[in-house]
Amino acid sequence: MKLLSGKTALVTGASRGIGHAIAQKFAEQGANVAFTYLSSAEKAEALEKELAQHGITAKGYRSDASDFAAAEQLISSVVADFGSLDVLVNNAGITQDTLLMRMNEEMWDKVIDVNLKSVYNTVKSALRTFLKQKSGSIINLTSVVGIKGNAGQANYAASKAGIIGFTKSVALELGSRNIRSNAIAPGFIETEMTDKLDEKTVQSWRDAIPLKRGGQPEDVADCALFLASDLSTYITGQVLQVDGGMLT
Ligand code: NAP
Repeated sequence: MKLLSGKTALVTGASRGIGHAIAQKFAEQGANVAFTYLSSAEKAEALEKELAQHGITAKGYRSDASDFAAAEQLISSVVADFGSLDVLVNNAGITQDTLLMRMNEEMWDKVIDVNLKSVYNTVKSALRTFLKQKSGSIINLTSVVGIKGNAGQANYAASKAGIIGFTKSVALELGSRNIRSNAIAPGFIETEMTDKLDEKTVQSWRDAIPLKRGGQPEDVADCALFLASDLSTYITGQVLQVDGGMLT
């Protein structure tokens, strides 16, 4: 028996990296998968085909996570196309790293809008559907940086810390309606986001990891699968670290 048979999941930012691995894992486990992307149209098209090979329904939507009206439109399209929405994974995210001395207002606003406002946008838009169904699992991608801070990432760390506060508040507000809200805090995961870092920074991250390796997108996808499935029906308001023990 597959863990997500009969469920519909929406994964934001699934054209690459962690979101891509989550979409694949969910499809392997029998979920119908809706996903979003922004600029990687070709990769999204390829993913749609790849997911459908698992005998489930898959559809990619071009949707800017930072735009509230677009999120409302997205959720109503997903519910119309798939008939329900059981799992919402807020994964889309960006970095614009620099020391605060050099961080301008645009860099601050952009990262907060794509990483944090986006989570409000989709959760608020999906709420009516979850309440009507009397169930839902919300999974938000935060970061260990949102827990401990990081020099050169004040905007990113603030967005990820905000996600933790939001996740816990939603868990408190909606637990009585059987709607769960949890976050995943990855550590150093090898994707295009971390490819941008210089070798010295990468080595310092690796040195700080007790398991002595960078994480893979699949490591995070396994955690998302657990939170999406009925294996975690008594877990809400939590932040699960997938970081090889980095922040212990
Ligand atoms: P990634 O490889 O850079 O991929 C980012 C994804 O987000 C892409 O699919 C991209 O779509 C999408 N995206 C970006 N801006 C968007 C927007 N405005 N609207 C919709 N989609 C948008 O990133 P990743 O490493 O997989 O990270 C995924 C999540 O995990 C992020 O929230 C990140 O902060 C978090 N995280 C990552 C790490 C790590 O070490 N990698 C650690 C902790 C937390 P397009 O390609 O179509 O533009």
